[in-house]
Amino acid sequence: MPSYNPFSHPHICTLKKYQEKDMSLEKMMFTDYPYLNWIYNNLERYRDKIIVETLITIGENPPVTGVCRSCKSQIASTICFYRADFLTSRGRTMNNNFEARCAKCEEEYLNRGHKHMSTGIQFSSILNFDTAQDRNIFVKKLKYAIGAPARLSNESAAKYFYDLFQSIE
Ligand SMILES: [Zn+2]
Repeated sequence: MPSYNPFSHPHICTLKKYQEKDMSLEKMMFTDYPYLNWIYNNLERYRDKIIVETLITIGENPPVTGVCRSCKSQIASTICFYRADFLTSRGRTMNNNFEARCAKCEEEYLNRGHKHMSTGIQFSSILNFDTAQDRNIFVKKLKYAIGAPARLSNESAAKYFYDLFQSIE
């Protein structure tokens, strides 16, 4: 067990976009993932880059605890969204009728000819959506599926990632 633990406290974002906003990198995983992804891909010398890299890496495989919203018995394995080519530039949008589902219910739903798509239960799936509104709806379903705190604060988000980090040590 290494003595250094990157999630021992919330890490406040020091970049210009969030200057004086008291916003932690952990909370941004939920509220502004595209920006963290940009940091990850573009900033070589960002002070807290190791934190961003760790958050993004462990955010790819969070344990799923939410049950399927259709059968209410199996653990969910996917989150569905609506495909409507006329609605967004990339033809993807989220609305409240779409939920976390298990593989079996997902297959039945598809077999009935519904026009929708589904995505993995992981933070990078947020990048499927172009608008803040769609991303916010998706994040609600993601939080349900992974058992993340419904009320996000710098501290509650940091605790979520701290626990996740400990669980994979
Ligand atoms: Zn199901």
